[in-house]
Amino acid sequence: MSKDVGSNAGGGNHAGAVADLVDQLGRLPGIGRKSAERLAFHLLRVSEQEALALADSIRRVRTDVRYCADCFNLAETNRCAICSDPGRDTTRLCVVEQPRDLMSLEQSSAFKGLYHVLLGRIAPLDGIGPDQLTIDALVERVRQGAFVEVIMATNPTVEGDGTSLYISNLLSEFPVPITRLARGITAGSVLEYANREMIADALIGRQKL
Ligand SMILES: [Zn+2]
Repeated sequence: MSKDVGSNAGGGNHAGAVADLVDQLGRLPGIGRKSAERLAFHLLRVSEQEALALADSIRRVRTDVRYCADCFNLAETNRCAICSDPGRDTTRLCVVEQPRDLMSLEQSSAFKGLYHVLLGRIAPLDGIGPDQLTIDALVERVRQGAFVEVIMATNPTVEGDGTSLYISNLLSEFPVPITRLARGITAGSVLEYANREMIADALIGRQKL
């Protein structure tokens, strides 16, 4: 017979502020009730300075961070750090779904060009159509004609591939070659989780779409 651990186990009677923090943390993706409690008590144990630094980071990220006016990467000014960097190769454009995909590609250090962040992928089943992405802005950037290559780096999923195909059709009216990442990244896996070497290989081995 297993012991009855009852609903009072795990502590349901924290003071208001602590209970509130546990609730807030518990709403974060991947954080269950137990982890939320562990994090809350951790924040009570560390120095006030350390705990408040986290609060400040959350506040800053929500008040200061916006989308780059050119590429829709995250930025703290009108243009992101990459678009503002004079050392980037402005003739190559890499199209990604999300800012976090851009971060993964940046960590590989294999790409020195510019990016365009779609802020999602076409997902008819979730009701996300092309109009909800930054595709119009992408077409406009390519229309201006400064790029010698557009690299599609959407995720190798059904929706990512579909988005890539949709965009390459739109861009086919322009003379710029369109390539896509090599499938060093296993079909169905997501850029976010790929390691640097895989991403670098996929970039180096990119092929014409
Ligand atoms: Zn930018």
